[in-house]
Amino acid sequence: MAAIVIAGGGTAGLAAALALGRRGHRVRVLERGDAPPDGPAVESAQRWRRPGVPQAVHDHILNALGVRMLRRHAPDVLDGLLADGARLLDLAAAAPGGPAEPGEEELVTLVARRSLLDVVLHRAAAAVPGVSVSHRTTAAGLLTAPAGPSGHRVAGVVADTGERIPARLVLDATGRRSASRSWLAAAGLPVADDLSGPSRLHAYGRFYRLRRPCGPLPGPLNRGNAAGGIWGHYSAVLHPADNDVFAITLGALPGDRAMAALRGAEAFTAACRLSPYLAPWVEEDAAEPLGPVRATGMPPNVLRGAATDRLRPVRGLLPVGDAACTTDPMFGRGLSLALAHAFGLAELIDGRPEADDRLARDAAGLAERLLRPWFDKGVHDSRLRVRQWREATGAAADREPARPPEPPGPPVPPVPAGLWAAATAAAAADRAVWRGLTRIQTSLATPAEVFADPAFLDRVRASEGARPGPAAPEGPRPPTPAELRHALTAREGG
Ligand SMILES: Cc1cc2nc3c(=O)[nH]c(=O)nc-3n(C[C@H](O)[C@H](O)[C@H](O)COP(=O)(O)OP(=O)(O)OC[C@H]3O[C@@H](n4cnc5c(N)ncnc54)[C@H](O)[C@@H]3O)c2cc1C
Repeated sequence: MAAIVIAGGGTAGLAAALALGRRGHRVRVLERGDAPPDGPAVESAQRWRRPGVPQAVHDHILNALGVRMLRRHAPDVLDGLLADGARLLDLAAAAPGGPAEPGEEELVTLVARRSLLDVVLHRAAAAVPGVSVSHRTTAAGLLTAPAGPSGHRVAGVVADTGERIPARLVLDATGRRSASRSWLAAAGLPVADDLSGPSRLHAYGRFYRLRRPCGPLPGPLNRGNAAGGIWGHYSAVLHPADNDVFAITLGALPGDRAMAALRGAEAFTAACRLSPYLAPWVEEDAAEPLGPVRATGMPPNVLRGAATDRLRPVRGLLPVGDAACTTDPMFGRGLSLALAHAFGLAELIDGRPEADDRLARDAAGLAERLLRPWFDKGVHDSRLRVRQWREATGAAADREPARPPEPPGPPVPPVPAGLWAAATAAAAADRAVWRGLTRIQTSLATPAEVFADPAFLDRVRASEGARPGPAAPEGPRPPTPAELRHALTAREGG
């Protein structure tokens, strides 16, 4: 009997397998997709077909929380990624002047294509004695067993092959469509409702390779880890990736026919040429496109009921990663939360011979501490962004198809909007305030933690009363909605 079965071998499942295996547990991962091909990691990642992880063909960055997790729990994986061409980019490169402080060395982003991260993680996990990964094997349902007068517990998994796999503990790492809700319903085990809030945005992304990898970059990384910005009615952001590759992603409201033209290569390039900081990167002699423009709808923010203790948690089943909580990808924290969750659960599971109520409650407590603040912030920020973009684009967004009414949302993060705006304004000139907000942006600290610091609040309030300093030099201006639409319509069908 495998002591622990993990359904799903994406980032969360592989990280959990690595951490549990290295603690001496016997782990079997069931993954419905193919194994990464043999050979050098970069080539393997490029050749790996992953229909089960459709987002892998889109830009991914690993924020500072994720880097902290790798440094603490799997430094060999981080070293392997860096040896294979991933890079750490320093966010302080875009900070206002002022003294750097201890702790700022944590403010970095790891840039690598998503499948490279998973190949390196896969090889590390599969090399651990006691860990096995069964590919082309779908977890199709749960085995349950009576657990005293108080009901049943999960006792294993049934695979699509019909194989019955008993286990002390099952981790659901099946990603954002989490399989366990339907499994639990089929097994007659009740769980709390999921919480959700829509993201509502569409993303259009394309990868490129620099033609002169050893030369200077075509343009500055004005955000430290990225070029471009999130503008008043759309976003246009470039992230370097591993080796000499970079990705550009444009974000827009759905239901806007002009913006839907971004699926076409010509319209996409035209939008990049108009967008601040991006134009030099898409010049013919700077970079070659690596494939077509890929479009996707952003998944909603979801906190799964099975990950919480709003109803008595199910014993023997722990959701992890996106299967527990999905956050709007525009905020780039899903991978980091998946790693932090997987390593956190491994610590809880370690030393617990029984998959009992206590483990279930502790796991729900971990989800509440680690995931809930980012779910709440995701819901709040997604709504705010959509509202702002709708106001800026006016009638164009009215063509969005009618949707069912939204369920009541969670509370907004516990920071009044005025205070948040004051901190954002102060961060442009005050290094300490910049540091606090950057720690939130990179998931190293929650808004509640940063805004509870009296020194941080003093600096924000002082800046509110202070006479404005010399105006910062104005950056390049993004196109107006009309200018962008005109450029796209002129090239529609191109
Ligand atoms: C467009 C887009 C861009 C994103 N960009 C970023 C970013 O820049 N930074 C960031 O941090 N996050 C980003 N994310 C979020 C990130 O992709 C997820 O948070 C991450 O994939 C979560 O990992 P996971 O292992 O939980 O799930 P997944 O990566 O989805 O893995 C789930 C695995 O389970 C397998 N599986 C599913 N069902 C079964 C079953 N029944 N049996 C066996 N196997 C099964 C699948 O094949 C898959 O391998 C982005 C997401 C999207 C959609």
